Amino acid sequence: MIQERLNQACEILGLIHMNAVYDHHAEEASKGSISYLEFLDKLLWAEIEAKRDRAAKANMKLAKLPYVKTLEQFDFDFQPSANARKINELKTLGFVARAENVVFLGPPGVGKTHLAVGLAVEAIKNGYTAYFLSAHELIAMIKENIISGRIHRKIKTLCKPGILIIDEVGYAGMDDETAHYFFQIISSRYEKGSIILTSNKSYGEWGDVFGDNIVATAILDRLLHHSTTINIKGDSYRVKEKKKAGFYDPSKLEFTPTD
Ligand code: ADP
Ligand code: MG
Repeated sequence: MIQERLNQACEILGLIHMNAVYDHHAEEASKGSISYLEFLDKLLWAEIEAKRDRAAKANMKLAKLPYVKTLEQFDFDFQPSANARKINELKTLGFVARAENVVFLGPPGVGKTHLAVGLAVEAIKNGYTAYFLSAHELIAMIKENIISGRIHRKIKTLCKPGILIIDEVGYAGMDDETAHYFFQIISSRYEKGSIILTSNKSYGEWGDVFGDNIVATAILDRLLHHSTTINIKGDSYRVKEKKKAGFYDPSKLEFTPTD
């Protein structure tokens, strides 16, 4: 029977979506005045879209984002120095195609991670891959892999995603060996894959972060050669939200932690 043959053909070719929808499309086609070619075109593109959707969903999981937020959810009126114009340019994803980097600098709560995540979400939706980790996790990963003798293989793995996001550089210091491998990671992605990095420390303070001015300079040299820096200077959005909710008491100079 034709249905059975079609189901089998779809299975052999891995056309999961087409298998589910060809019936419906065939019925629609027979009602309308749609040509054979248009019918085929519809079916094929429905399959392609479904495949892309599945891949994006899988890539979202693999990216290990700490939360999912989009660029549309970012309030640029509250944080004008986050530079809506530059973010809109980055949103076109030319930087990923050209393997350029993006650095978000600024104090806690101003939206650095949100914007990094938002760019990653946009890239994944458009077929790219991403991998998110905090500098803290990266340092631990480097140390473990030095001990287990797999550090070179690990560096290769970290080269694979279209975007590598390194969040919160600057909170944890680094010993010489870790800083050296951190440099290796930046350097092996240089002109091959994008890095989005966030930091609470200005570039001038990176010598302290990496425990060595020479390593810091080498890292900055690779990182910034093809890059966009967005320096966010403003109030913490977390504090704003807490003020609004009434948890914020400036006389105590602290606010109730809820996250
Ligand atoms: P940072 O990484 O700079 O410390 P986050 O990006 O984690 O700050 O932001 C803290 C929280 O506030 C997140 O939940 C984020 O989504 C939200 N947030 C920060 N800035 C904005 C903004 N301008 N518009 C909307 N949400 C924001
Ligand atoms: Mg953050």
